Parts: sequence; C-alpha cells; structure tokens
Amino acid sequence: MGVNSLHIELLHSCPCACAACDHRLRGDARLPRAALDAVLRDPAFSGLRLASFSGGEPLLYPGLAKVLGDAASAWPGAALVLLTSLYLPAKALALLRRLPPAVLRRLHIGSSLDGPGPVHDALRGRPGAFAALRKALADIQREFPGVSAGLTFTATSRNAAVFYETWSGARALGVPLGVQFLVPNPNTAGLELDAAARRALAAGLRRALEETPAASPAAADLRQALSFLGGGPTAACGAGVTFLMLAPEGEFYLCPFHKDIKAPLGAPGALRPPAAGYRGRFCAECFLRCAR
Ligand code: SF4
Ligand code: SF4
Repeated sequence: MGVNSLHIELLHSCPCACAACDHRLRGDARLPRAALDAVLRDPAFSGLRLASFSGGEPLLYPGLAKVLGDAASAWPGAALVLLTSLYLPAKALALLRRLPPAVLRRLHIGSSLDGPGPVHDALRGRPGAFAALRKALADIQREFPGVSAGLTFTATSRNAAVFYETWSGARALGVPLGVQFLVPNPNTAGLELDAAARRALAAGLRRALEETPAASPAAADLRQALSFLGGGPTAACGAGVTFLMLAPEGEFYLCPFHKDIKAPLGAPGALRPPAAGYRGRFCAECFLRCAR
C-alpha cells in the first residue's frame, strides 16, 4: 500500500498559545523551500490523496500561495488541506485571493473551535481568538462560498462539559465540528480527560448525534469519538506507511505521538514499521484508531 496522506508542518511559529500545543517549545525552524521541493519531486508521493499544510500557523509561511499551487501540480489527485488558527483573518483572505480557481476547488480549510467564545479564547491563550475565527469564517463564506471549511474540537478536562454547546455554536457558524483527543506533550499535564470529563463529553456527543442525520460523515465522526471514549475497536495503524508527517526541520516523523521516530528526506520508507508495528507507549491510547 502506498502513501496516501502527507502532513506537512511548515513552521513552528504561531500567534496563538494554545494550552495543549507544544510548537512554541520546539524552536523556530521553518521548512526550507529546497526541502519542500525535494518532497514535491519525490515519486513516493505521486499517488497522494491528501496533503495537509499546518504549523504552527501556515499563514506565516512565506510564499504559501505558491506552495499550494506547486502541491496542486505535483499531486494532481490530492485534496489540499490548510490547517490554520484563523486568528489572522486578513492573511487568510489575502491567501485565498492569490489562489487560482483550480486550487481553490481542491482546498479545505481546517481550524479549531475548543469551546464557546470565552472557553475558546482561554484555551487558545489569546483574547479575541473566537471573534477572529468567526470573522475569518464569515469573510471566507462570503467571498469564497465554494471553499470547504470545518472545525475540530480538542477534548480536554477544561472543555469536555461544553462540547454540545460548542457543537451548536459551530452549526450557527455554518461549519461542521469534529472531535479529536489530546496528543500528550509537556503542556498537556492536567488537561487529560478524567472519568467525569469523559462522561460529560460522551453525553454531549450523544446529544449532538441525536440532531445529526445518521448516514452523514458528521454522524460517523461523532460515533467514532464515542467509540474511542468507550474503548471501542480501532483500525490498523497507517503510520509511516499510508500517512507520513514532515516536520519544519526537514525530516519525516512517524506520527503525532512518536515525533522521535524520524527519517531523512528522500528516505521516507525508513519509517515503515516492522511486522509488529511501532507499538510504543502511546499506541494503546492513540485516537487515530490505530493498532493496539
Ligand atoms: S493555533 Fe495550532 S499551532 Fe498555534 S498554538 Fe494553537 S494548536 Fe499550536
Ligand atoms: S498506533 Fe501508535 S504508531 Fe500508529 S499512529 Fe497511533 S500512536 Fe502512532
């Protein structure tokens, strides 16, 4: 099976200071353009179905419009995903205005909503983060109604009880809200879901599910989150095989939980797990629904 998803972190810098994020602890590296060009030329990725661009804040990466255009040419079968805080609405609009229609049609913008306004702002570490997100989404919907957008809620002990309220808020903004769970790092101590938070989150998920068409992708996402909370079945791990991560330092790494397992540019195959897989200490709790 070939690589179908490549997740590219362009830089660590970001204007936000999210409680659960460790990019600000990881230096100021920015992916060299030459490294990106090498990846764009690598035949290992010619069959990509998805290429995501994140950071840090990818809107701060110089020449991002050209990066997206070059990626669209190099990987004609790939959906292009931009994962941004949307804390900088003017930059988001400026980027979209520079993209040709053929790239815009393949672009999905992903961002995060971690609670109703005050909770979101507190978890982002920036007053005004919710207002900026709301403005950015409204601007994009008005000027680029064909561009797809979605939000993700990262469940923590600080927001689990307000999931349903957040989900309703996202609906009012006209975008779907998916769920993800913490990737442990030095900043996440104390944010883990305890039993009460898990119960509260499950109740919110069920309530949202009741209001979601059963056959929709949104319902599948909510059910998957409920299944994960309940310790339900997981899928096979695709780390290093079907999906790869590229760090701003210009090296591949295995998965969000195993940033220490790396491979140099030009040798992404070095990440391929042996028969037993990389079942490191985080695999048992991996929300990517991977091998246990
Ligand atoms: S917006 Fe993203 S990169 Fe920036 S601090 Fe938050 S989680 Fe980290
Ligand atoms: S199962 Fe393990 S190796 Fe696979 S993505 Fe999850 S944490 Fe990474």
